[in-house]
Amino acid sequence: MSKVLIIGAGGVSTVTVKKCARLPEHFDEIYLASRTLSKCEALQKECGEDRVKAVFAVDADDKDQVAALINQIKPDLLVNLALPYQDLPIMDACLETKTDYLDTANYEPKDEAKFEYSWQWAYQDKFKDAGIMALLGSGFDPGVTNVYTAYAAKHYFDEIHYLDIVDCNGGDHGQAFATNFNPEINIREITQRGRFWENGEWKETDPLSVREDLHYQNIGERASYLMFHEELESLVKHFPTLKRARFWMTFGEAYLNHLRVLEGIGMTSIEPVEFQGQQIVPLEFLKAVLPNPGSLAEGYTGMTCIGTYITGIKDGKEKTIFIYNNCDHAVCNEEVGAQAVSYTTGVPAMIGAALMLNGTWKKPGVWNMEQFDPDPFMDMLNQHGLPWHVMECDASPFSK
Ligand code: NDP
Repeated sequence: MSKVLIIGAGGVSTVTVKKCARLPEHFDEIYLASRTLSKCEALQKECGEDRVKAVFAVDADDKDQVAALINQIKPDLLVNLALPYQDLPIMDACLETKTDYLDTANYEPKDEAKFEYSWQWAYQDKFKDAGIMALLGSGFDPGVTNVYTAYAAKHYFDEIHYLDIVDCNGGDHGQAFATNFNPEINIREITQRGRFWENGEWKETDPLSVREDLHYQNIGERASYLMFHEELESLVKHFPTLKRARFWMTFGEAYLNHLRVLEGIGMTSIEPVEFQGQQIVPLEFLKAVLPNPGSLAEGYTGMTCIGTYITGIKDGKEKTIFIYNNCDHAVCNEEVGAQAVSYTTGVPAMIGAALMLNGTWKKPGVWNMEQFDPDPFMDMLNQHGLPWHVMECDASPFSK
């Protein structure tokens, strides 16, 4: 008997809930709670009340509300698909009620655009002592990219030295400017200074100032920009042989032009401003006028290609491999009514949850994805819509 409580009813949650609902062998009972009850009700209607047993309104910024909900439902696992701001209150509620926890993005304070694992890693001893587990970052990046790295280290190398994670969305949603997941979180992330790991230290770059034109399987060449991404922090900690670790994301010229204008006029700022007698945060207002990422699915064409280039040593020789997945927006829409960015995050959240519930990935404490055996996760990716490929490369494709 496995009971899961999912918090959040946005783009990613829609995919996870629908996937879980189709897998009664892993998820006996599903409960769903979020800030806006009507979104939970709509999802429940789509999945059926026999699968999503009950829905609730909850403010997950409030630890006591989440703890009360957990005490009412008594789930075996809480899956947090709300926003990074809610990670800590939800983890506190899990601690109080001795409930396992999973999320897809690391904690970020609302008043500072800064994300890092220190806040959540600080729960390690408390979770261990309580005999409960937290699985951090079970999305695609972070998530699958961490598992790809662990898989490569296990099966392809004696030692890994260079890691480049690449994230390309080669799709077209037909909008002038839209983000593919929560606009506030997305814009906070991409407007930060770039950061990468080299020879034992973090190096910084101006935002989106380092570019490589890379070839993506089934998409073609795309301008790719160096950014900081959260999985780099855990991967360099857990694979200390890494000499360099970087993350790259593709952006088109139109997207960058819109972003530059929005930044230039202050619309991406998180500093509150006075507007008609009240304080508003420009970025929160911008989110309200941008398309809801969940609404992009209809008519979205093209695919994503997200993967990990790894160079290392095997039997004394240097080699490079690329592990990647292509995900087609239209195919995702047909399957679950979502675009590929929600799908590539929602499916790994379901897989992480299934592995925790069936005891395959289970140990008290707070863990990142690469700290478990990658093989069962990689098998489930193939079974549940995110097949992967391994390509042996003649040389690394990066010029720098
Ligand atoms: P959405 O904005 O679409 O959904 C977020 C959901 O959380 C909404 O239903 C929202 O409610 C709910 N929510 C927000 N605040 C609260 C609160 N205080 N209490 C209860 N519920 C709340 O975001 P996405 O689905 O795009 O993203 C979900 C998560 O996935 C984010 O943390 C994001 O960073 C992460 N992500 C991870 C990726 C990865 O690969 N690892 C990739 C993409 C996203 P309401 O409907 O009322 O707004």
